[in-house]
Amino acid sequence: MNLNPGTKPLPIPEEELLDLAGRVPTPFHVYDAEGIASCLRRLEAAFAWHGDFREFFAVKATPIPAIVSLLAKNGAGADCSSLAELVMAERCGLTGDRVIFTSNDTPAEEFAKARAMGAVINLDDLSHIDFLEKSAGLPDLVCCRFNPGPLKQGNAIIGKPEEAKYGFTRDQLFEGYRILRDRGVRRFGLHTMVASNELNPQYFIETATMVFTLATEIAKILGISFELLNFGGGIGIPYRPGDTAVDLEAVGRGIAESYRANYAPAGLPRPRLALECGRLITGPYGCLVSRVLHIKHTYRDYAGMDACMANLMRPALYGAYHHISVLGKEDRPRDHIYDVTGSLCENNDKFAIGRVLPELVPGDILAFHDAGAHGSAMGFQYNGKLRCAEYLRTAPGQFSLIRRAETLDDYFSTLVWPTP
Ligand SMILES: *Cc1c(COP(=O)(O)O)cnc(C)c1O
Repeated sequence: MNLNPGTKPLPIPEEELLDLAGRVPTPFHVYDAEGIASCLRRLEAAFAWHGDFREFFAVKATPIPAIVSLLAKNGAGADCSSLAELVMAERCGLTGDRVIFTSNDTPAEEFAKARAMGAVINLDDLSHIDFLEKSAGLPDLVCCRFNPGPLKQGNAIIGKPEEAKYGFTRDQLFEGYRILRDRGVRRFGLHTMVASNELNPQYFIETATMVFTLATEIAKILGISFELLNFGGGIGIPYRPGDTAVDLEAVGRGIAESYRANYAPAGLPRPRLALECGRLITGPYGCLVSRVLHIKHTYRDYAGMDACMANLMRPALYGAYHHISVLGKEDRPRDHIYDVTGSLCENNDKFAIGRVLPELVPGDILAFHDAGAHGSAMGFQYNGKLRCAEYLRTAPGQFSLIRRAETLDDYFSTLVWPTP
């Protein structure tokens, strides 16, 4: 058995992380602005052939204004799924067709807010047509989310499409667009999101083909046309040292070929093409930096960190792998095996189980890789654990605070205290 997981480059130079960890309290999340912006540029370049492509950053992946506005300045829109995300996008200067509202089980006030911002509303269910009409009125442009069910294989994070709660069935889509058309909607979008953290480029090309074919059929049968075809997010990232990043150029080229073969011949107006990736854009360019508080030897060897699953819960939630670098010790032999834990009173509060690392001592600084998306975003306050500070590297050696650490006063501020 090869216990050595291999090595992986850090998104920010090791010396800079160590220097920052020496100056500010740990734990903290830190992101590299240039890494994020250049990933967005690569994605846009892969679709330059189309002339009308937009990435709508999935705000839920990294809901931090500094990051949403960095992406907005570089041309991205926002994919929002809640009131808070809509408000954040708006406060970062994104409204109108730069925002897509893809929600499910949606409260009326969220539809109303999306409508007021002029956002593209992406409906999750046939019954939401009436609900949207009552809560906010039908906008000019309506998008619907397709769930292909057994027609498409899912994966471990999102599950099988036929077991997923999202979207319309194929028959419901025809019904839905017919109702929308008959109630005066004239502009249409079609959306699907069937994968999460998928590393196979072919998967995205197949998804696009499915959308092109379906949109052509719906357009012909109902006499409508689509302005927006949105293939969702879900492009995976290489969490493990052996994983290969998705070749974005190959995805772009494959979708271009599919467009020419499956959409262009129908002679329909040219739609905007969209993706709403979160993980791809910010995941690899952020890490969680944390200090070893205790080393414990019982039936196993434990490294107890000053961070816990409230700072990064993917390992505890889905057994996800996050690579660990021991800063300043990367060239030491990896000849110790640790369970790397947090301090929650939950036995699954572990960043890694049985991980091969160099020998650790209290005070060592660890970086958990690929925490830039679905990392701090999933944070919670169980056990009174507070959110840590977050920093953005704006230039080599330059970091700005983009979220301060929560304080006990923040935590207690919503509680009603009994008078003694
Ligand atoms: C979560 C989500 C995304 C982003 O997923 P990633 O895996 O971060 O790319 C995009 N669209 C919808 C509708 C989502 O729910």
